[in-house]
Amino acid sequence: MKYVYIFLFTLFSGACQGETSSEAASINKGVSPAFELVTLGDTGGIKDGNLSAFLLRSVNDENYVALDAGSLVNGIDVALANNAFSHLITPPDPKLKANGNILHHHVKAYLISHGHLDHVAGLLIASPSDNNKTIYALESVNKTMSDTYFNWQAWANFTNRGIKPQLNKYDVVDLAPQQTSLIKDTQLKVTAFSLSHPLESTAFVIENQNDIFVYFGDTGPDEVEKQGKLAVVWQYLANSMEHKRLRGMVIEVSFDNKRPDNLLFGHLTPKYLMQELTKFHLLAKNKSQFEDMKIVISHIKYSLKSGENPRKVVAKQLQEANTLGFHFILAQQGQVLML
Ligand SMILES: [Zn+2]
Ligand SMILES: [Zn+2]
Repeated sequence: MKYVYIFLFTLFSGACQGETSSEAASINKGVSPAFELVTLGDTGGIKDGNLSAFLLRSVNDENYVALDAGSLVNGIDVALANNAFSHLITPPDPKLKANGNILHHHVKAYLISHGHLDHVAGLLIASPSDNNKTIYALESVNKTMSDTYFNWQAWANFTNRGIKPQLNKYDVVDLAPQQTSLIKDTQLKVTAFSLSHPLESTAFVIENQNDIFVYFGDTGPDEVEKQGKLAVVWQYLANSMEHKRLRGMVIEVSFDNKRPDNLLFGHLTPKYLMQELTKFHLLAKNKSQFEDMKIVISHIKYSLKSGENPRKVVAKQLQEANTLGFHFILAQQGQVLML
């Protein structure tokens, strides 16, 4: 019952949704949170300024990793206006504006799921005034970034690989699939999994000691994509849950259930997300963790058509199909969630 209440409250509380979600999410049955998640951008288009991007940190550390960066500085501005960074105690850098202070002193690295613009535009646009950071991605994703953007045609090459001259602001690191690496200057570790999308996409499993979180870049459902890639992630998470606690995930739902399979283009609908989560639930031996696990829905496409509200439709369809009692939260730009 509590989750139905939180879900409805989150869904219909309008302008103060971010704050409400934050409060709701902190009700956690006495288990203290392990992660903080700030939403910098919640859509997969069409409106610039609010595109896929999140910041994640351990609650024991003031350094975030960015999970995609479709909107970056604008996302930080919206989050600042929502007091999302009020818990940070490190004194701000007086030489920088508040957004510059967050970007330079608290965002330590980028994890990029794939090279589509709605996931990287904010990084590219901010790069001339960004400071040195590491970009982590699968090899094919880093190659797309080099070939498509950091090529002295679309943009200057701010990285340390590809077409010369290399400006060496970003240290580009290839993540080997399913191998765990430390994320520099944070307390987090990451393990990358390949996902099915028109070009290779990525799920990042992030560890903070005994707690884990998973961020899914764009992905189609296994039933449509026929590659079984989500099944690999579900199995890994189910195994991990035997000795670690899965606190939550960000996963996409781009379209409502009316969208035909041949027009999904590597995305999920409420029906397919529920089908995938049901498979995961079946695999997990330790089902008690699902009670506190927050499933944050991202990437709902914005509509320019009058009278259309895709967020409402997606939320309703998820709610109606939620027989297993998953705790869904719609991502909202500026929102802070404790997980
Ligand atoms: Zn996308
Ligand atoms: Zn995409």
